[in-house]
Amino acid sequence: MIFHIITIFPEMFDSYLNESILSRAQSNKKIKFKFYNIRDFSKDKHKKIDAKPYGGGPGMVMQVQPIVDAVKKAKGRKNTKVYIMSPSGKQFTNKIAKNIADKQKEIILIAGRYEGIDVRVKKILKAEDLSIGPFVLTGGELPAMIMVDVIARQIKGVLGSENSIEEKRNSSSEMYTRPDVIKYLNKNYRVPKVLMSGDHKKIEEWRKKR
Ligand code: SAH
Repeated sequence: MIFHIITIFPEMFDSYLNESILSRAQSNKKIKFKFYNIRDFSKDKHKKIDAKPYGGGPGMVMQVQPIVDAVKKAKGRKNTKVYIMSPSGKQFTNKIAKNIADKQKEIILIAGRYEGIDVRVKKILKAEDLSIGPFVLTGGELPAMIMVDVIARQIKGVLGSENSIEEKRNSSSEMYTRPDVIKYLNKNYRVPKVLMSGDHKKIEEWRKKR
């Protein structure tokens, strides 16, 4: 899957996407990232990409032309879906991620900054607004990385073991590892006996209840 990322801060993505599982997934050609710096598409001699909002108000709004041109450059397939990171968008979920991983070969993610993006970008590109949660960040870079991470782990072969996809097994939020007893301030913290019983049926039942 190819993730086309439209942003004014491509460097912000480097450390997160180039470590661990996402780095391995790139080496294994399961996923690929392409970055488009919105400023490179500005026609302004100072590479300006924002302007004051019509109707007044604080801050600046990202303009249409540089973003639409960046998306045009990114667009491989005719029906490549375009998502705009937005705090007022539809809540992004695991279900949406799985659907994207199953159906799309590439997607375009637009990360906003300042007061957001002129809404005509959404109209022109027939894009969908997605929010990663009920809070407001200073930019769309983290939301885009979160989407990439959540979608990538749904792509076959990205996680070491297919069984690691929690939604496909009885996973528990209560995990234990060695040692089996930890003494802290005179109290013993023990691993539940059932987890050390070797009885897989019982363990599954225990996990289901958590
Ligand atoms: N004034 C705007 C806030 C813009 S925040 C408003 O109230 O709608 C700046 C950018 O950060 C946005 O363009 C968006 O890309 C990103 N962003 C902030 N919070 C987000 C969230 N919860 N989910 C997705 N993107 C978010």
